[in-house]
Amino acid sequence: MKEATLVIIKPDGLHRSLTGNILTRLSETRLFIVGAKAVKVSKELAEEHYRHMRKASFFNALIDYIMGKAHNTRRVLCLAYYGEDAIRKVRRITGSTNPEEADPVSIRGAYGRITTKGLYENVVHASSSQSEAEREIKLWFKPDEIVVTLYKTKLVVQESSKLRCWDNKNK
Ligand code: ADP
Repeated sequence: MKEATLVIIKPDGLHRSLTGNILTRLSETRLFIVGAKAVKVSKELAEEHYRHMRKASFFNALIDYIMGKAHNTRRVLCLAYYGEDAIRKVRRITGSTNPEEADPVSIRGAYGRITTKGLYENVVHASSSQSEAEREIKLWFKPDEIVVTLYKTKLVVQESSKLRCWDNKNK
């Protein structure tokens, strides 16, 4: 069945210039990239993304990690992949959560590490189920940032909202 999945190249992946290697590995899946963008991760976004980890002892360290505080790079790269069996195909190439247990040929097995404080810095995030993929893609992307229609959308008129746009006057 065709489905979508979210991949995030985490701050350690960007800091260590692993983007090219990771994208090359993911291209083995033959899936389509239907959305891609760099994101400066706010605390709210980080906490919402990892809301299922709220009770974990390492939650605060995890939030700092995905916000880039541990790598002095306040950005991640978000990608939405689409195609047959996308979630399983991407998870197989990214590997297990614990980089020491991950297949050494997987992305996490090859590039991940466990910090001295015990956090898994595993370079990439990949959605684990269809419901999580939908929740995560809707959290990280706006409908117009995805080039196919993945989920139902609606049009909302927001007259009083402000929108930042390019200012070409007096550049
Ligand atoms: P996954 O990212 O494989 O879907 P989880 O959602 O369970 O796994 O965990 C979110 C992130 O929290 C992991 O990618 C990893 O960075 C970190 N993490 C998970 N479990 C542990 C753990 N036991 N010890 C340290 N860090 C962990």
